[in-house]
Amino acid sequence: MSFSRENFKLSIIVPCYNEEAVIGLTYDRLLAVLDGNQYDYEVLFIDDGSRDKTVSILSEKSGENERVKILSFSRNFGHQPAVSAGLNECSGDLAIIIDADLQDPPELFPDIIKTYFDSNCNVVYCVRQNREGVSFFKKMGYHFFYRVVNYMSDVELPLDSGDFRLMDRDVIDAYKKFGEKNKYVRGIIAWMGFTQVPFYYNRPGRADGETKYSIKKLIGLASTGMFYFSKKPLKLAINLGITALSIGLILAIKVFYEKFSGNLDEVPGWASTILTMILFGGVQLVTIGVLGEYLGNIFDEVRNRPEYIIRKKKKQD
Ligand code: UDP
Ligand code: MG
Repeated sequence: MSFSRENFKLSIIVPCYNEEAVIGLTYDRLLAVLDGNQYDYEVLFIDDGSRDKTVSILSEKSGENERVKILSFSRNFGHQPAVSAGLNECSGDLAIIIDADLQDPPELFPDIIKTYFDSNCNVVYCVRQNREGVSFFKKMGYHFFYRVVNYMSDVELPLDSGDFRLMDRDVIDAYKKFGEKNKYVRGIIAWMGFTQVPFYYNRPGRADGETKYSIKKLIGLASTGMFYFSKKPLKLAINLGITALSIGLILAIKVFYEKFSGNLDEVPGWASTILTMILFGGVQLVTIGVLGEYLGNIFDEVRNRPEYIIRKKKKQD
């Protein structure tokens, strides 16, 4: 690669969705960190169909600054498509993906960049040591989320690491070759290999505004993480079926035994019949559900719809 510690271009990718409460502050803090360095930079704000003042605040703040670009989606496509758009459109030798709510502090950039050059790697992924301003239940949820997704995946995904990371052009170019429409960005990057090193940090609470990740969106993310990265859920479904079948066989042996030993209580078998029906009914539905999930994903992918639609590119060269 033709860049050095002193001379490179850094792209910052900031997905934003209805972030009017915080985006002005984010802009100021980002630019304060980026301005006055030796290296060149660009900031790409990917507006994921915001319906508030996010874009007008950004346009006003950036004015004639050619280094700041705003890409607006035609509607809300989601955080992952927004990150993808940033990676597709950025032109830096290095790129950093960062949340718009300052939970990923821009002040860490110099240390992250130093880690990149010192360890001669391709990706520096930031790992949350501590989450401030997050409720106990949500923390438990995240803890569970990363471990379940990891268990289900064939690829080793770094635990407690979101999309806050630095990657170089080799990785970005490799990322652009991934054809799936529904992308789990951190999973794809982990899957690629290269040399990836962790960077530990304490995650502060949101600087302002509310979370834009609804439970539905989080479940969607977990589902992509699980179903796009392995066939383990299918194997689990088979195991569940085998377990249920084994229980059924044991029950059958018991019934036969009681029948032939003359102990079978013919009429009062209601509870065991209902229980067996519920058990097998449940197992069948779960198994069909798992199949359905894969089928739905295949349906999504074969339709081959665009991952996102850009409404306008502001100050894009
Ligand atoms: N975001 C987005 N589209 C969405 C939801 C979220 O671009 O549909 C952005 C959001 O503006 C923020 C980042 O994704 O920059 C992470 O979202 P948030 O901070 O709300 O998630 P949390 O930190 O609560 O998990
Ligand atoms: Mg956040």
